[in-house]
Amino acid sequence: MPSQSIVALKPQFSLETPMKRIEEMTLWERLYFPEVIRGLMVTGYRFWRNLTVHILHKLGLARRLQAAITVQYPDERAPYPDTFRGRHRLTLKDDGTVQCTACFLCATACPAECIYIQAGEYPDNPVEKYPIRYEIDTLRCIYCGFCVEACPCDAIRMDSGTHPGNLGFSRKDFVEDKEVLMQRSRELAEKGKEGLYEEYVKPYRHV
Ligand code: SF4
Ligand code: SF4
Repeated sequence: MPSQSIVALKPQFSLETPMKRIEEMTLWERLYFPEVIRGLMVTGYRFWRNLTVHILHKLGLARRLQAAITVQYPDERAPYPDTFRGRHRLTLKDDGTVQCTACFLCATACPAECIYIQAGEYPDNPVEKYPIRYEIDTLRCIYCGFCVEACPCDAIRMDSGTHPGNLGFSRKDFVEDKEVLMQRSRELAEKGKEGLYEEYVKPYRHV
C-alpha cells in the first residue's frame, strides 16, 4: 500500500497575526484636495455615464448597457422578495388568542437583546403559558430573523411586508408591544400584504 503523505494546511490567519488597520492618512490624503478631486471625478463619471446611457436608451440604442435608476420611494416601490423581513407580528390561534407560549426561545436567540417577555399562566391550562407582556424594541432590532427561526410554534413572523417604523418622538414610540404585534396579524388577514403596505406607507407619501 503506497504511503500517504498528509499535507498540513497552513492557516491563513492566526490569532497572533496583528490586524492591519489604516489609521494613519498618507501625505497625499492629508493634502485633502487631491482626494476631493478624486471623489468629484468618480461622481462625475457616474453622473455623465448614467445620463449618456439613459439618453441612448431613449433613442433606442445601447439597450444592453445598464444605467442606475432612482426609485422614488415611497411614491414608487421596488418589488420585494417573499423572504423580505419586515415588521414583526405575533400569530394568532383560531380563537384569536396569541399563539405564543412564552417559552423565551426568541428572546434567548435575539442577538440584539431587544425582546422582553413576561410569562403568565392560564387559569384553566396547566400545560401552556402565555405572554402577559411581549415587547420588541425596534430601535435595537437588527431584523436578522433569528427570533422567527428560534420559535418552535410559529408564533412570531416577519412576513408583514412593511418597513420598520421611523416616525416617533421618544424611544417608547418604537417599542412594539403584544397588542401592536397581534393587531398586525389581524390587519394582515383583513387587508392582505398590499393593503397593509399601503396603510403603513400612507404618512410618507407626497401624492
Ligand atoms: S429580528 Fe433579530 S434582532 Fe430583531 S427581535 Fe428578532 S432576533 Fe432580535
Ligand atoms: S414567540 Fe415563539 S419563541 Fe418567542 S416566546 Fe413566543 S413561542 Fe417562544
